[in-house]
Amino acid sequence: MAQPNLQSVAFPVLNDAQVAEFGRCADAVPKTYQDGETLVRAGEHDFRFYIVLSGEVEAIDPSGDEPKTITVHSRGRFTGDVSALAGSASFVTSIARGECQVLEITQEALRRALNRCPAISDIILQAFIARRQLLRDRANFTGLRVIGSRYSADTFRVRDFLARNRVLFTWIDVETDPHVHALLKEFGVTEADMPVVCCGHMLVKRNPSNRELADAVGIHRTLEQSVYDLAIVGAGPAGLAAAVYGASEGLSTVVLDRTAPGGQAGSSMRIENYLGFPRGITGAELTDRAMLQATKFGARLSVPVPGTRLEFENGYPILHTDGGETVTAKCLLIATGAEYRRLEAEGCAQYEGAGVYYAASPAEADICRGEDVVVVGGGNSAGQAAVFLSQHVRKVFLLIRGDDLYKNMSSYLVQRIEQTPSIELLCNTTVRRMEGNGHLSCIEITSSKTGEARTVPTSGVFSFIGAVPRTDWLPDEIERDPKGFVRTGPALSESTYWAPRRQPFLLETSHPGVFAAGDVRSGSAKRIAAAVGEGSMAIQLVHEYLKQM
Ligand SMILES: Cc1cc2nc3c(=O)[nH]c(=O)nc-3n(C[C@H](O)[C@H](O)[C@H](O)COP(=O)(O)OP(=O)(O)OC[C@H]3O[C@@H](n4cnc5c(N)ncnc54)[C@H](O)[C@@H]3O)c2cc1C
Repeated sequence: MAQPNLQSVAFPVLNDAQVAEFGRCADAVPKTYQDGETLVRAGEHDFRFYIVLSGEVEAIDPSGDEPKTITVHSRGRFTGDVSALAGSASFVTSIARGECQVLEITQEALRRALNRCPAISDIILQAFIARRQLLRDRANFTGLRVIGSRYSADTFRVRDFLARNRVLFTWIDVETDPHVHALLKEFGVTEADMPVVCCGHMLVKRNPSNRELADAVGIHRTLEQSVYDLAIVGAGPAGLAAAVYGASEGLSTVVLDRTAPGGQAGSSMRIENYLGFPRGITGAELTDRAMLQATKFGARLSVPVPGTRLEFENGYPILHTDGGETVTAKCLLIATGAEYRRLEAEGCAQYEGAGVYYAASPAEADICRGEDVVVVGGGNSAGQAAVFLSQHVRKVFLLIRGDDLYKNMSSYLVQRIEQTPSIELLCNTTVRRMEGNGHLSCIEITSSKTGEARTVPTSGVFSFIGAVPRTDWLPDEIERDPKGFVRTGPALSESTYWAPRRQPFLLETSHPGVFAAGDVRSGSAKRIAAAVGEGSMAIQLVHEYLKQM
């Protein structure tokens, strides 16, 4: 069957019956705009959604040097993309061309109507996803501009944060871009202000913290002070799955993440073993879809909001966050996953973000393009990183401590590595020392078999060794195993913390009403499908718990 092309999916035309039905479900009223009036301004948060009844609405990208027309919506077409549901800032300005009549719909009403009209919802959601994809693929789309040096850890942090949060941006490297001085002059900034973030002709922030950036682009949402049915800490696959099931089953649900939605899976460039995606899917795409699904059902998602402390009042969990906000909920799901251990090589800490990375995405690949890089680790994530990086760099050295790559890596990945001439496997090898001048330039590696040391010139070391659970924010009464993973259900049979007379539910921790799912849970499978399964299953147990409360 022929696939419809991305343009036609992105810009469908609703027929009169569909427009009338959707308008009814959203309780929308027609509104008239005169020629030149602005319906949505780029940078605006919580902007409205419009369906054109008559006349035209021009969608403009104002982010580059000159404003560019993206498309012109006429009768039956509608404005917006994924940010219309997420509440984040619009990338596009929409302006009436001629007198035009539209249905004006708030984000809340849009969500309501999408849930009431499934057939029209499919068309709109597919269009939202396709529009974001088209903007991403557009060679001349600028989005935000990040100006900074490839050698600066702060520039890397800002780029990484925007990329993980799916904010569209263009990076201008002060080391190589011929027009950078003119740009710096235009924005009135010097190299000491780097990195700077700009939009169109406006300076947005000088070296912003992640939180300042999140506020500026509208991805940090204030938390309501009411009691939620469910608070989810961590928006990786487990947390997002729980958010989709929780919100779709009528639980008031909030999901928080300390950096960005997607978790470890979000940084995967190709997931090939997740059911239903025979050709593979990128972590970014899987995350985009999951976020859209969760927000469509009304889950409230906010980043970057690290949970720092958990306490209990009248049996309710109260989560304290880094920004001083608190969240009270009847139930809480711990879905904070795991992260890779820091490499224990001399000098490593000073090159984090400036040559030492814990993910391999286009942001990192850009920095190391055409050079030699080192990937450390023998698991699937290291294998995926080596294969992905081999398409962008000159050579990948894959370092493992043992002598058999098949031991911890899926055989399909090992075979791919064996078939890639630009990947060289170095067994029984560890990194001893790192050197550079502000940015990593070489490492010393040693063989545990021969004791031989060797210097490898490299601008990038990618480490994927020994995942540790992110549980340092939890109180003692949430019982953990000796490695720090959260114990649940049957694993609590000898717990001194578990007080009720009933047995804990399968995913319930040593505190009633607090559940754990995904990689953070002791004994979990450490796979995307397993995390998604556990996050979904946790909701069933939350219902059980609420019933007997
Ligand atoms: C590069 C890479 C490739 C992978 N590829 C595959 C694959 O192909 N197939 C497969 O099955 N598995 C793969 N995995 C493993 C898979 O990604 C994990 O098993 C899965 O992501 C676990 O999901 P999770 O939701 O439990 O935890 P995580 O994905 O670890 O997500 C946890 C989330 O919690 C957030 N968080 C942590 N602490 C806090 C806090 N205090 N407050 C708020 N938020 C917090 C984190 O920022 C993170 O977003 C891969 C892993 C990596 C790193």
